[in-house]
Amino acid sequence: MFENLSDRLSGVFDRLTKQGALSEDDVKTALREVRVALLEADVSLPVARDFVKAVQEKATGQSVTKSVTPGQQVVKIVHDELVHVLKGDADPGALKIDNPPAPILMVGLQGSGKTTTTAKLAKRLKDREGKRVLMASLDTNRPAAMEQLAILGKQIGVDTLPIVKGEDPVAIARRAKTQASLGGYDVYMLDTAGRLHIDEELIAQAAAVRDVAQPRETLLVVDGLTGQDAVNVATEFDDKIGVTGVVLTRMDGDGRGGAALSMRAITGKPIRFVGLGEKMDAIETFEPDRIAGRILG
Ligand code: GDP
Repeated sequence: MFENLSDRLSGVFDRLTKQGALSEDDVKTALREVRVALLEADVSLPVARDFVKAVQEKATGQSVTKSVTPGQQVVKIVHDELVHVLKGDADPGALKIDNPPAPILMVGLQGSGKTTTTAKLAKRLKDREGKRVLMASLDTNRPAAMEQLAILGKQIGVDTLPIVKGEDPVAIARRAKTQASLGGYDVYMLDTAGRLHIDEELIAQAAAVRDVAQPRETLLVVDGLTGQDAVNVATEFDDKIGVTGVVLTRMDGDGRGGAALSMRAITGKPIRFVGLGEKMDAIETFEPDRIAGRILG
C-alpha cells in the first residue's frame, strides 16, 4: 500500500553525494519524505511539522556512521524521536488499583470499543494479577449495551452488577461502589454511556459519575482508525472529565497508527493500552517502539 520509508530515504540518499556528515540539505530532502510518510500514516499536519523540525535539529551535522547508510541513519533518528514523543509512563499497563475497591472509569464514544475494552481489561486484571473485578454498565439509554457487558462478564468469568431497570447512572455507580466494598472486590469498573458525538448531556453524566466514584483511573477509549477525530475527542474528554490514559482500539486494522503520535503530542496523555481485535485477549500494553515501527512502515 505505502512505500516503506526506509526504502524511500535510501533512494533519496543514493542521489546525494556521500559526505562525512549529514548536511543541512541532505537532511532537508530526507525530511520531506519523512513528512509525507507521517501524513500518510494519519499524523496531523501541525504534529508532523513539529516532529520534522525536532528531527531536523537532531540530524543536522551528525556524522555518518560507517556501518549504516545515511538513509538508515536518518530512519534511526526518526524512529528514536517517535519513541521519545510516544513514550508516556514507564509502565503504561500498571493500573492504579491499590486501596480496594479501586474504581476505574471507562469513557468514550459509542462504537469506540469501550464495553469490549472494559471486559478485556477486567479479564487481564483477573488473569494476570488475580484481582477480583466487578463490572457495571451505566449505559441506561441502551439496554442492549448493558446486556452486552453482562454477556461478556459471563464469558470471561467476571461478575457484573445486576441490572436494575429505571436506575440512573449515578445511582448505578453508587450501587457498584457499595457492592464492590461489601463483596470484597479489588476493582470495580464503570462502563459509562457512549454517544455517537460528544454532547453536553454525555459529559455532564460522565462528570457526575466521576464525582461520585472518584476513580483511580479514568481511561478514555478511542478508535485508533479515526485519526484526527480521535485526538479531538480526547482533547474534549480530557478538558471536561480529566483522563488518566488512553486506550487506542482497532490497532489490528490496516491504519498506520499515526493517531497515536498526534494523541500524545496534542493531548499529552499517555497511551496505556492498544486493542488488537475483537477477542477478549486482544489487548496489549502500549509499546512506543512497536507503533514507531508501524508509522515508519
Ligand atoms: P462501545 O459502543 O464503545 O461499547 O463499543 P463495543 O465495545 O460494543 O465495540 C464495538 C465493536 O468494535 C464490537 O464489534 C467490538 O468487537 C469491536 N472492537 C472493539 N475493540 C476492537 C479492536 O481493538 N479491534 C477490532 N477489530 N474490533 C474491536
